[in-house]
Amino acid sequence: MLNNTPTTPDAFVRVRGANENNLRDVDVDVPRDAIVAFTGVSGSGKSSLAFGTIFTEAQRRYLESVAPYARRLIQQGHDPHVESITGLPPAVALQQRRGAPSSRSSVGTVTTLSNSLRMLFSRAGTFPEGYATRLDSDAFSPNTVAGACPECHGVGVARTVTEDTLVADPSLSIRDGAITAWPGAWQGKNLRDIVIALGYDVDRPWRDLPREDRDWLLFTDEQPVVQITPQRDRVAKPYNGRFWSAQKYVLHILADSSSQTMRAKVLQFVRSGPCPVCGGTGLRQEALAVTFAGRTIAEMNALPLTELAEVIRPTTQLTDAAPALPTNRSGEHTDVAVAITTDLLARIGVLTDLGLGYLGLGRVTTTLSPGEMQRLRLATQLRSGLFGVVYVLDEPSAGLHPADAEPLMEVLEQLKESGNSVFIVEHNMDLVRKADWVVDVGPAAGTGGGEVLYSGAVAGLADVEQSVTRPFLFPEQGDGAVERPVREPKGWLTVEGVTVHNLDGLDASVPLGMLVAVTGVSGSGKSTLVSRVLRDVVRDHLNGDGLPGGSVAVDEDVDGAEGTAEESEEAGLSEAVLPDARADVLTVRDAQGLEHVDRLVQVDQKPIGRTPRSNLATYTGLFDAVRSAFAATDLARERGYTAGRFSFNVAGGRCETCLGEGFVSVELLFLPGSYGKCPECHGARYNDETLEVTYDGRSIADVLALTVEDAAEALSGIPAAARSLRTLLDVGLGYLRLGQPATELSGGEAQRIKLATELQRVRRGHTLYLLDEPTTGLHPADVRLLLGQLESLVDSGDSVVIVEHDMDVVASADWVVDLGPSGGDAGGRVVASGTPVDVAAEAGSRTAPYLATALG
Ligand code: ADP
Ligand code: ADP
Ligand code: ZN
Ligand code: ZN
Repeated sequence: MLNNTPTTPDAFVRVRGANENNLRDVDVDVPRDAIVAFTGVSGSGKSSLAFGTIFTEAQRRYLESVAPYARRLIQQGHDPHVESITGLPPAVALQQRRGAPSSRSSVGTVTTLSNSLRMLFSRAGTFPEGYATRLDSDAFSPNTVAGACPECHGVGVARTVTEDTLVADPSLSIRDGAITAWPGAWQGKNLRDIVIALGYDVDRPWRDLPREDRDWLLFTDEQPVVQITPQRDRVAKPYNGRFWSAQKYVLHILADSSSQTMRAKVLQFVRSGPCPVCGGTGLRQEALAVTFAGRTIAEMNALPLTELAEVIRPTTQLTDAAPALPTNRSGEHTDVAVAITTDLLARIGVLTDLGLGYLGLGRVTTTLSPGEMQRLRLATQLRSGLFGVVYVLDEPSAGLHPADAEPLMEVLEQLKESGNSVFIVEHNMDLVRKADWVVDVGPAAGTGGGEVLYSGAVAGLADVEQSVTRPFLFPEQGDGAVERPVREPKGWLTVEGVTVHNLDGLDASVPLGMLVAVTGVSGSGKSTLVSRVLRDVVRDHLNGDGLPGGSVAVDEDVDGAEGTAEESEEAGLSEAVLPDARADVLTVRDAQGLEHVDRLVQVDQKPIGRTPRSNLATYTGLFDAVRSAFAATDLARERGYTAGRFSFNVAGGRCETCLGEGFVSVELLFLPGSYGKCPECHGARYNDETLEVTYDGRSIADVLALTVEDAAEALSGIPAAARSLRTLLDVGLGYLRLGQPATELSGGEAQRIKLATELQRVRRGHTLYLLDEPTTGLHPADVRLLLGQLESLVDSGDSVVIVEHDMDVVASADWVVDLGPSGGDAGGRVVASGTPVDVAAEAGSRTAPYLATALG
């Protein structure tokens, strides 16, 4: 069904009358069997054309052909607004939206390379003496009953509590809170009353209690139930209370609580370490006894792909391979071994070409950036053997150093050569220049865009004056770096002897009061240095905790976006403790200059929320002001509606059919996760009575449907909202709708929302801002806007450290720290450090030549 003839005489996808989102009756012809770049500022309509129209229509036709019945059910809201599209092949979309990846999915499982590796061990490994039969390939996976370590159930981590971790201050009595790990407030009092009823002394200092009592209170599994008579409160009746030892309580919260806050709280009383039985691999002993090329499967999983390739390469070159016999103790020299390793090697090669050679198969996908994730999926597609397909990709260059952009282009060429069309939404002008065709959308965002300004060979765009892309695609000499006054460092933040991931005893310094860019090829350690080391060191200092030494990372938002219970469940803690948690221990020998920093703000690309219940209006807090304004209207007061009535997250004002989501999920066989508009409120999220209340002629649902740009005008009478909207406009997000669900926002958009939220705050003291690739998803014109914002933070005395690949941005930084020389273990060192001009002249730096070009 998928093999369209690629050589039809008219090899164009012809779009007529496209009106999706902001598109204005667009007619455009896009060549098939070509690499086509869609360009334009954020919000201009590129995605609406490439994804919303072309991909969605291809998807619709595909669904229609497979399941007319299913089609009818999910029809609502899924038809692109377009008159006709001809010449459209089936399409595959690779987007950067972070789904909710399971914490058990890894580089190996996503690429299916793990299956092959397990097969290799099962069929061609070397088994120890005394194994009657070969193990099944399942036995090499910690995620199966056959393979999981019986001690840790395949998780690889042992959690322990000790008296030291559970009791912070042994001079306190139980009444004064000696058992730190117990809950506070009412529950804590309750436990104390139970302990009294059980006959323990709660007024003696902890350390003076008998050992036996202390052990029982902390570690027992017994849960006696006793009758409690509340002491102070004479009205309350006696009740039955159940005892929980501190350990029992902590483990119970970790296993059963869905509250991220609770789990994070008890986690501080727990030491996590590798499981002593399986050494953290999660595997059974039987599986760990089998080797290939002298290594266990756990060791193979931990190797960077580039090294794994070298380990198996000799097998692929065997010339005297024997036929495989199931009775042999070793299958390493058999034709089966050659076949499996040859396949593995070819597939690893694709990943290395895409700049991912520093990843290991065991790496958990929740620790990957969206760009890395997309390239993983891209590599998997290359092996699918499909042809006659349109691949629609969202900024495949995201997260790539300029040195890695060339191999990426080769991979895209390969897809094209196997008979496919490759449509990319792209901001990296080096990639756009190499495309066969460019479709430039614009000129501006939202209602100011939505037109195709140009569609043709790249060179032709040089003549389109209206195009915002043109000056970046064809820069004039000396257009690159912007002239700025030279800034002096206001101090230095120095870390010494840093060990985590691929950093091994690293010393590094960043100047304060400056815009600092951290550069280096993928996997060199940029994110580790900025988003982990600097973050933890400064945060622990601000919390008064001293230097990190031996802490296992727990994924948490520094800027503390409040999450709902459901989202915390997804965010889970398990991601911090999967097998590669072992490499994830941060130690820092010394740090200086911390006294200069009063505040830390990390602006990352993590979603602002993981459910459609969060959006930019709720995140920035502007929705609170809007709800209050609605509650203050005459009709609302007359009816006694408070601000809560206008929330779609609580019962009262919201539509109870969809519980305020606007959508209901449609359960379909074979089509997981299909959503349809709510039949009751038709997507409005509120009940009719709530919608009757209007502010300035708009219902609360109408307000959520406004773009930031329109809202800035419509809500100018609500000062708190207007201030938020102003900063959102400043970071170039005028095109987003207030109610656009968090799950629909790209990582770059989420990051800019966080930045805007930060900019609207009144700041005191010296703040250190950490940003990881803030330019992802931004058109060069938007990059300039963002840079202006970062500059203004530095001008007001704060410090900004960014991880960055865009050499124009790096060129305009005050200081550059270049890591490398390569990725993984071949990286993790400071290769060069200094002003952009100094670093550009550094011979050993892979960044230098690209930076030199940008400096012009
Ligand atoms: P680009 O890909 O160029 O950044 P988009 O195609 O995503 O731009 O957006 C174009 C315009 O359409 C913007 O004004 C955006 O706010 C609007 N838009 C995007 N998605 C939706 C949607 N699901 N519903 C309504 N408007 C949308
Ligand atoms: P960059 O930001 O320069 O692309 P990273 O800091 O993400 O590089 O990665 C540096 C090295 O550390 C790589 O070898 C990577 O595989 C490894 N690494 C990064 N994050 C983790 C993690 N959570 N667990 C284990 N290894 C990691
Ligand atoms: Zn174990
Ligand atoms: Zn509804």
